[in-house]
Amino acid sequence: MTTSTPAVSPREFDTDLPAYDRMPQLLTGQVALVTGANSGIGQAVAIAMAQAGADVVVNYVAGSADAVVAAIEKTGRRALAVKADVSQEDEVVAMVAQAVKTFGTLDIMVANAGLQRDSALVDMTMAEWNKVIGVNLTGQFLCAREAAKEFLRRGVRREVSVAAGKIVCMSSVHEVIPWAGHVNYASSKGGIQMMMKSLAQELAPHRIRVNAIGPGAIRTPINTSAWNTPEAYAQLMTLVPYRRIGEPQDIANAAVFLASDMADYINGITLFVDGGMTCYPGFATGG
Ligand code: NAD
Repeated sequence: MTTSTPAVSPREFDTDLPAYDRMPQLLTGQVALVTGANSGIGQAVAIAMAQAGADVVVNYVAGSADAVVAAIEKTGRRALAVKADVSQEDEVVAMVAQAVKTFGTLDIMVANAGLQRDSALVDMTMAEWNKVIGVNLTGQFLCAREAAKEFLRRGVRREVSVAAGKIVCMSSVHEVIPWAGHVNYASSKGGIQMMMKSLAQELAPHRIRVNAIGPGAIRTPINTSAWNTPEAYAQLMTLVPYRRIGEPQDIANAAVFLASDMADYINGITLFVDGGMTCYPGFATGG
């Protein structure tokens, strides 16, 4: 059956959001590292991991991580800020080594750092292509590799988790939805999907789980112009069947779940957290 009117009114610009409270204690005693954790999704994930009981390594590359560290310490967990560019091998190696030295080990890697450098194909420079692939794809490869070394060295810490380690890759709906004018970004996210699945296959016999999250449109600095006026918001909602923008906390909730033993039989998937954006909303009224 098709219908031209929604069952309830579309949600208002900037209002009508769920109340999020009381994070379940799913990660007690674990150590998590979150990249790009001083902004947007990464910041919400880092704080949520702490609220769920983990000590957190807060990676950042620019600005300050002080506010995130303070929010984590307020939950009673420990935080360590580490400045590192995830596209640089020596910096990622040093970051994971510092995390292990400080907290003794690592249980969870959330490879979240990412950026956009948008251009039409014919205008896209090698610098724009290499920057996005370097941070979004190579950066996640390096973080996954260094985390896996520590998981393999240590094995299962049964007192905190039945898995030897968990890797969560921040992908996007653009791992499956093509995006004109963003070929570098969409290619990086498509690459993350196949990297994540290959790593999941390779590492599963060692009880290491690897999954991804595919956010839809989330209210962060990466896409401000897509939601910061009522007109832009209304236009965005034509792509979102659930008729609200996603909040960083929506992604943080999914990250905590995927990193926890609640998700112990989930391996090699992308969990889309997108209000139905991947449900081809253009076909909602016909086609
Ligand atoms: P954001 O711009 O708020 O945060 C990105 C973070 O990555 C920042 O902390 C930034 O400093 C960091 N970063 C960039 N380059 C880095 C580098 N070389 N080394 C270390 N850190 C680096 O954007 P966001 O929306 O929070 O994005 C986080 C992730 O979510 C990205 O991978 C992005 O592609 C993905 N994502 C976001 C959306 C969305 O709608 N916001 C949708 C799908 C996917």
